[in-house]
Amino acid sequence: MRAIIIGGGIAGLATAWWLRHEGWEATVVERGPAPSPASGLAALDAPDSIDGTLDRGYVIDYFGPGYDTLERMGLRARVHESGLGLNAVRYRRADGRDSARLDASVPARITGGRFLTLLRGDLEGVLREALGPAADVRYGTGIEEVRQDDEGVTAVLTDGSAERADVLVGADGIHSRTRRLVFGPESRYRRYLGAHAAAYVFTDPELMGVLANEFQAVEAPGVQAGMYRLSDTTGAAFLCHLSPDGSLPQDPRARLLEVHGGLGWLVPRLLAACPPRPYYDEVGQIVMPGWSDARVALVGDACQAVSLMAGQGASMAVAAAEVLAQELGRLAPGSGAAKAGTDEVAAALRRYEGRVKPVIDTKQRAGRSLAKWFVPATPARLFVRRQALRLSSTPLAERVMRPFLATPRDTPFDAPAEGARS
Ligand SMILES: Cc1cc2nc3c(=O)[nH]c(=O)nc-3n(C[C@H](O)[C@H](O)[C@H](O)COP(=O)(O)OP(=O)(O)OC[C@H]3O[C@@H](n4cnc5c(N)ncnc54)[C@H](O)[C@@H]3O)c2cc1C
Repeated sequence: MRAIIIGGGIAGLATAWWLRHEGWEATVVERGPAPSPASGLAALDAPDSIDGTLDRGYVIDYFGPGYDTLERMGLRARVHESGLGLNAVRYRRADGRDSARLDASVPARITGGRFLTLLRGDLEGVLREALGPAADVRYGTGIEEVRQDDEGVTAVLTDGSAERADVLVGADGIHSRTRRLVFGPESRYRRYLGAHAAAYVFTDPELMGVLANEFQAVEAPGVQAGMYRLSDTTGAAFLCHLSPDGSLPQDPRARLLEVHGGLGWLVPRLLAACPPRPYYDEVGQIVMPGWSDARVALVGDACQAVSLMAGQGASMAVAAAEVLAQELGRLAPGSGAAKAGTDEVAAALRRYEGRVKPVIDTKQRAGRSLAKWFVPATPARLFVRRQALRLSSTPLAERVMRPFLATPRDTPFDAPAEGARS
């Protein structure tokens, strides 16, 4: 059996690995020109590569179900080699004084050490490395058209070639073209959470000098600007502000200067390092009634983006990839050589969805209700968040955070496929 996977990011590479583990052939189609190296830090330290884009210049906190999946892939030690080791999150006022601090030992303790902070590109690099050099990963091409029939599915690619397979997996991220081609326009599924986020990398030595090993942020009602160290010479900025109307600006850099310029401390210097085209996007979720259509399934942000407010998008993508491959593997246990009819494939894809979607629905609901605390809109909310962070190292606060961070061994991702729609 054969799958075409559109998107060679976190979800796509993890899906390819697990499908191959189930005895399937998998071809990954990635529109980007080349793979991420397994050490993004090395790439960032090469001066030519500092162009401010986000290829590998933003960090993710990685824990939860996807951590367990990486462990089952034998990648736990490998991925920890890429850990950035940030010690704390420190919030400051406009004059630079501390307003709150969250020690990184808290999430590490709650998860029993099953937590790491790393560059998204490094996670992608580790997954690509794990697939091995012989894996069929095609760079520099994307999806143009999808055709399904009783015997299989055909993906017409932007390079003009056509690929035939038993299943097509759309793993092409939050702005998925596969989703648009098969399920309709993004506007149908995009749930805007009221904020814009931006990120870029910088090398300003003065900023690097104050960062230590902490995420440091300045906050005011409705707006915050943070920065953290990626290597001895490179830092990354992460900015977020409320934006009720949601429309993206023509000139993101100008919008960042306008909205964040008055924050104080070292933020003007941080903004001076902003490239003309930083990463800039709405903060939002993808909420869909179903993730599959006959022989086509979506995985990762393409169907289950939980947003920055909820966190764990990458972890959920990796865990979902494992479940998707398990359910497809049940079609032809062992060899993967047999053929399966469309009804059987569709039922397998619904079982995958039935196992994963309830977990994502819960996570997305939590993300929506936490949104007001991510960028507090008023001085009163900001005050409450500061107090909560100040208390964060107490045993009581750890008990409150535990359900959000801990990975129960009986996570529904691991449950048998009962209750799935078929
Ligand atoms: C600033 C920021 C901070 C984040 N922080 C965290 C965090 O702390 N923890 C966490 O777990 N998650 C975090 N996330 C979310 C996390 O990055 C995503 O959930 C995760 O990357 C989703 O993986 P994916 O493979 O579905 O999508 P992506 O990682 O976006 O990969 C999609 C891939 O598809 C490719 N592609 C797109 N279109 C096409 C096409 N037409 N044809 C072929 N290929 C295509 C893209 O080039 C890309 O390689 C954060 C995201 C952002 C933006």
